[in-house]
Amino acid sequence: MTYEYILYETVDDGEIAIITLNRPGQRNAQNRGLLIELDDAMIRAERDDTVKVLVLNAAGTVFSAGHDMGSKASLKERLPGPDQHESFKERGGTKEIVEQIMLQEWHYFFTNTRRWRDLRKTTIASVQGNVYSAGLMLAWACDLIVADETAVFADVVGTRLGMCGVEYFGHPWEFGFRKAKELLLTGDAIDAEEAYRLGMVSKVFKEGRLEEDTLAFARRIAKVPSAAAIMIKESVNQAQDNQGFYNSLQAAFTLHELNHAHWAAISDTIVQTEETGGTGWADAPPVRLASKSTP
Ligand code: ZN
Repeated sequence: MTYEYILYETVDDGEIAIITLNRPGQRNAQNRGLLIELDDAMIRAERDDTVKVLVLNAAGTVFSAGHDMGSKASLKERLPGPDQHESFKERGGTKEIVEQIMLQEWHYFFTNTRRWRDLRKTTIASVQGNVYSAGLMLAWACDLIVADETAVFADVVGTRLGMCGVEYFGHPWEFGFRKAKELLLTGDAIDAEEAYRLGMVSKVFKEGRLEEDTLAFARRIAKVPSAAAIMIKESVNQAQDNQGFYNSLQAAFTLHELNHAHWAAISDTIVQTEETGGTGWADAPPVRLASKSTP
């Protein structure tokens, strides 16, 4: 597969693979083409026995602003016509609205993210700037997250789209249970320092040092024998699964689809819009940092 929306390279004699989200002009918003290329690149790294560590980073000042809701590329690939991406013609793409969204999101937002979480490599997300909504899913799917000082994390789909969080519901596990409710109900963000305090982020590098320091960190991790590394990953992931992670993800995904069905039942879209009392994405107030003493 040739890549239009991402870059793939390996360094250190192939031991470290680097996947770069490469839509800086669209703040690395995730259109379907990007997600399919990302899946291909993830599997490519997984297949390669030389690769020990995979770094997922992003070009520009923003890691990812979430799903691409309306760029030209996104509309072109979604709408019927000669440029429609073939993935919209299969896996539920031709079904009626609720069945369609349930199946398409299961394949392209939910199951691919779980596949990356279980990838047979150690993965490091290296993030800067906005990590919003579906941007969180990409970071959370990785084993480790490193950030620079500019990183801010938020899921704004509750306050902007009337949705109960993104499709891969890592929030309680990543933020903690009460914090997850607070952040989803307010749409507020946490900065890199707070994410570090919560244990979600392993490192907060100085601005301008992210690429270099991430690589140095990846090189440390790459020294661990691959057999030990995969069993460390699997021991922790299985512990989390035994705590209910896997089943909670499935349950939350089902509720997410119910939430889409709610909006579909009372309007002609699958999310809240101005028509159903929302603010609309463009008019939504800016995301702000959650603050201890500000209501
Ligand atoms: Zn959805």
